Parts: sequence; structure tokens; C-alpha cells
Amino acid sequence: MRSAPFTISVFCIIIVPLLSAFAFTCYWPECFGEMSHRQKEAAISMKPADKIIKITKALDETYGKRPAFKRSDPVDELVRTILSQNTSDKNSVPAFYALKKRFGAWERVLGSDTRKIAAAIRHAGLANIKAKRIKEVLAEIKRREGSITLAVLKDLSVEEGASYLRSLKGVGPKTAACVLLFGFGKPAMPVDTHIFRVAKRLGLIGGVSIEEAHETLSRIVPNHLIYDLHLGIIEHGRKTCRAQNPLCGVCLLYGLCVFKDKAGFRKRKA
Ligand code: SF4
Repeated sequence: MRSAPFTISVFCIIIVPLLSAFAFTCYWPECFGEMSHRQKEAAISMKPADKIIKITKALDETYGKRPAFKRSDPVDELVRTILSQNTSDKNSVPAFYALKKRFGAWERVLGSDTRKIAAAIRHAGLANIKAKRIKEVLAEIKRREGSITLAVLKDLSVEEGASYLRSLKGVGPKTAACVLLFGFGKPAMPVDTHIFRVAKRLGLIGGVSIEEAHETLSRIVPNHLIYDLHLGIIEHGRKTCRAQNPLCGVCLLYGLCVFKDKAGFRKRKA
């Protein structure tokens, strides 16, 4: 039978260092602000809905609560989103208001020469293409509905509404989702380049295309969070999770993020 001093010596010389080494390996990254393997696993395996709730809360803390949801006219939303294609809000928003000011009603836009429409929206870029697209879309809506209205979408499901809108020439998944979300308050998630990039980095979508990301995010984001998350992620993508040089060092979503290069960007704070 071993003596007590022998057992204590074995414990001190072998067991204690082994336990210490194990604990050090598990927790030392956290001591230096990095994610441990345990935390990485938690970020990856968290249920999407739980993760989205945490992300939305962190975005609210970072950027403040989103402005209250205010429904816009669906046809206005459709034209506004067509104008925003391939340009920034800085260019497309003034173009939209210039168009409204110049023509007043969509019927008058439809009855106008394409060159006059293009002149009014020149700030949005690709003015000739967008003017033609807007006229074609307005004409098709009038042909289907008898007047320029999208009221028919009110009682349709998100899938049916998206299908109707996407059957209009030049209307893609983002434009359709914007009309459904902002024009009707339906749970459709518009995905622009910011949302696509940030959602990927956060592990909300895998290797899907931007088109597929609309369907994936609309399915996994709880309906009541779609509006807040949409606006919050766009702001995050513009200000913090930029395409080049994301500011991971100040990001409140660091612990939820699975972007493999984030540790390399951790020193970036501004
Ligand atoms: S940690 Fe970095 S990559 Fe991840 S969400 Fe934040 S800014 Fe983007």
C-alpha cells in the first residue's frame, strides 16, 4: 500500500500540472479577448433564431433602436427600389423625389416620354435603362390591374407576392422583398450586398447565392425581427463590418461571429 506522502507527491507532480495545462489550453484565448474553442463551438452550434435575437439586441445597443416601422406606398417602394439598383441611397433618394416632383402621379410618368423620365432621375445613374424599366413595370401593372396599383398583393402570401412581383420585367428578389416588407409589412427579408456579407460572416447563411439568401433569411429570421434586423445589419455593414478592413475590435457581435479572419482584424478599432 502506497504511503500518503507518495500519493500527495504524485498528485502535485503529475495530476495538478496536467489539469492546469488542460484549463490553460481551454481558457487562455478568453484571457486575451480571443474566442476559445468552446466559444467558437457555441457560436456555430447556436440555434439560428436564438442567435438572431442576440444579434438584433447587440445591434440595438450599438446603433440605437431602429425608427418605428412606417409603411410606404407599394408602387412608390417599387420605383424607389428600381432607382436604387447599382447605386447608393445618396444618389437614388434624390432621384426618386425629383421624379415625384416632376410628374406628381405614376399615371403621368407612364404617359411621358422616356427621355423626360431619364432627365428627372439622372442622379440615380443608368438613367436611360431605369427610365425604360420604370415605364415598362408601370405599364404592366396597369395592364394587369386596370390602374397603377399593387393592392392585389395585400392578401397574398410572401411567396405569392414575390412571384407576382418577380414576373415584372427587371424586378429581382431584393426589389420584390422591399415592396413586400416596406409596402405591406410582410415578413420578407431584402438582401443587399451588406446583408449578404454580414450574414455570411455571422454564420447565418452558408455558401448560398445572394438570391438563395433571401429565402434562407426570410425563413430563419423571426417575423417580428425582420424589419429591425434588416436595418440594423445594413448599418453594421456600412459602419463596422465593412467589406474591406472590418472593425472587429469594436464589434459587439464578435462573440457571435464565425468569420475566420476576424482575429486578424481585431486590432482595428476605427
Ligand atoms: S467580428 Fe468583425 S467580421 Fe464579425 S461581424 Fe463583427 S466586424 Fe464583422
